[in-house]
Amino acid sequence: MKSINEISFNGKRVFIRVDFNVPFNDEGEITDNSRIVAALPTIEFVISSGGACILASHLGRPDGINPELSLRKIIPELKKLLGEDVIFLEDSIGDQTKEICSNLKKGQIALLENLRFYKEETKADERFAKQLSGLADIYINDAYGTTHREHASTATIAQFFSEKAPGMLLEKEINSLKKLMDKPKKPVTAIIGGAKVSSKISVIANILGFVDNLIIGGGMAYTFIKNNGGRIGDSIFEADRLNGCTEILSKAKNENVNVFLPEDILCSNEFSNSGLQKVTNIYEVPEGWQGLDIGPKTMDKFEQVILGSSTILWNGPMGVFEIPSFEKGTHSVAKTVAKATQNGAYSLIGGGDSVAAIKKFGLQNQVSFISTGGGAMLESLEGKLLPGINALSQ
Ligand code: AMP
Repeated sequence: MKSINEISFNGKRVFIRVDFNVPFNDEGEITDNSRIVAALPTIEFVISSGGACILASHLGRPDGINPELSLRKIIPELKKLLGEDVIFLEDSIGDQTKEICSNLKKGQIALLENLRFYKEETKADERFAKQLSGLADIYINDAYGTTHREHASTATIAQFFSEKAPGMLLEKEINSLKKLMDKPKKPVTAIIGGAKVSSKISVIANILGFVDNLIIGGGMAYTFIKNNGGRIGDSIFEADRLNGCTEILSKAKNENVNVFLPEDILCSNEFSNSGLQKVTNIYEVPEGWQGLDIGPKTMDKFEQVILGSSTILWNGPMGVFEIPSFEKGTHSVAKTVAKATQNGAYSLIGGGDSVAAIKKFGLQNQVSFISTGGGAMLESLEGKLLPGINALSQ
């Protein structure tokens, strides 16, 4: 796979697949512009290297043309952030779009209308991809969050370009996963939490191949404890995943991975801030009570393991961190990961809720890398080849 630094952009038109799928409030204002901000370095790099940019993205899940989901809505924010004019193209393909793109001058930036206004986009349609490819000389994919999807603009299109590469954001994502999965600095610790074991079981099974320690927290821990014969009261658990837990634990044993489950937990008789609360042994949760956070002994144990690690992966909260009474465990892990990073460890945080948690505690600048792709990152961790990344090497 080529690097963006090996490509000459001078006088070239560059199709950049970005992720401008940003959230809006009812007034039509962007509530979080971080995806646009994340795409700026690549756009600025192409412009400063003498190229012209044709930006393409999806927004939401339209069923045909839907003005509510027009990318025109992001033009003011994009112009403001870039400090440059941006030409909006009402159609992502067609003669007029082709004409405008072919006349783009060095330094000009155009944004195509929402790619998903064409159903061909999500169907990975070859004809549509070829039409898109006809707009530019070079293909850059910088939309990590969609690389696990085989769509026209994320995968099919790449075959029509001889010059193609990941953008700066995508390159960082690829390199951060390499640091974790490809000869990582040992010991490696994975901290996996969140509500359900079912959504992460393939991730856990795959990472056992390269981690030394596996910390399991959050709601998913209770399925493991139940499987070990514990009494978990009314805590969340998945009856159909008990065998999965047995398989994980036996694989961990074969691979010499140390597994750390919570010892004590904070439980409540209500799923809210206002119920009764107490700390119990995780194997002895009374009926009518549910475990909603890890307890103090567990926090200390997890801290010890994390601080002894050179490479750390964190995905999923340790408890219901959205409710203040049950945020301590997740906060403690976030602080410890930040401290381990300060001591020289490499830390990678990924998956929607752990990212939300680290931001909630204001520690997002104290870890090595925060992945921008939830689903894409989980699929990478499962060991899958992502179509959007694979296409860049063909
Ligand atoms: P996930 O999307 O699988 O990473 O799960 C994240 C969600 O898991 C968060 O919304 C947490 O509130 C929830 N969660 C974490 N621990 C527990 C628990 N012990 N009981 C119920 N939900 C939990």
